[in-house]
Amino acid sequence: MRHISLRSLTIIVLLLAHISVAGTPNRVTILYDSFGKNPSMTMDWGFAALVEYGGKRILFDTGNNAKSFEHNVKAAAVDLQKLDFVVMSHRHGDHMGGLAYLLKVNPTVKIYAPKERSGVYGDDQPSSTWYRKDPSLPAEQRYYSGAPPEIIHMGEAWPGANFQLIDKQTEIAPGMFLIALVSDLPGTLEVHELSLAIRTPDGLVLVVGCSHPGVEQIMQEASAIEPHIKILIGGLHQIQAADSEVERIAAALHDQYQLDRIAPGHCTGEPEFAALKKTFGDHYLYAGVGSVVDLAK
Ligand SMILES: [Zn+2]
Ligand SMILES: [Zn+2]
Repeated sequence: MRHISLRSLTIIVLLLAHISVAGTPNRVTILYDSFGKNPSMTMDWGFAALVEYGGKRILFDTGNNAKSFEHNVKAAAVDLQKLDFVVMSHRHGDHMGGLAYLLKVNPTVKIYAPKERSGVYGDDQPSSTWYRKDPSLPAEQRYYSGAPPEIIHMGEAWPGANFQLIDKQTEIAPGMFLIALVSDLPGTLEVHELSLAIRTPDGLVLVVGCSHPGVEQIMQEASAIEPHIKILIGGLHQIQAADSEVERIAAALHDQYQLDRIAPGHCTGEPEFAALKKTFGDHYLYAGVGSVVDLAK
């Protein structure tokens, strides 16, 4: 057999990579939500979506219930064994309920999750700062008999899962960013939340879970990565907001942040759906469970 030079091998590999990237559609498939028009999908409160961009396949959240998540994943013919990574937006049950099914199908997949002190996704704390020491006590009254391990690991609710904890903005793949913010609103105080931002040639794609830190705060962080945000997909948490706030958010997204298109779902709320539809017109995309949002447009 003739030897293939390293250079021609590199060219072949690059060509193959190009073909597979070009052959994969850039889109977001909504796998979990409590509204929709696709009869093959189960409706339930919660959120999950498969994000496909540049040949990467990312699962964003897992919905509320493992059985319903499994049903919808199969109905949408999504192969959870073929994922590059998973993003868990935050620790609320309506986003984590399907983790049990995901881990059954793909137990080693890398899962990015917010780092919270002693949170459900686990945590590591240095023993030097975790607690104050008192050497005057007898050993049996001291933590770890006075000789603690360097790191104290706080257990996760899913032992063995491949969690990667994130507490600041991180580029997890070329052009793919996790925005990490904390809610300061009563009811969700100190909930840490991750949003996914993807740089594309014609602007940023932004996927959010519940927007508990505030959708404007998330938009602000996202605009620092890339001033033009071409689409916002996910929950805006306006379910109980008064009309004035509902209108204000719709106007801010459209006028202040000059968001091009919006595909709201989950906890965005019925009045906010109406306000956004009015404000964005044909730049409002329906994104109920089973919908496929085309990112190429
Ligand atoms: Zn939620
Ligand atoms: Zn939530």
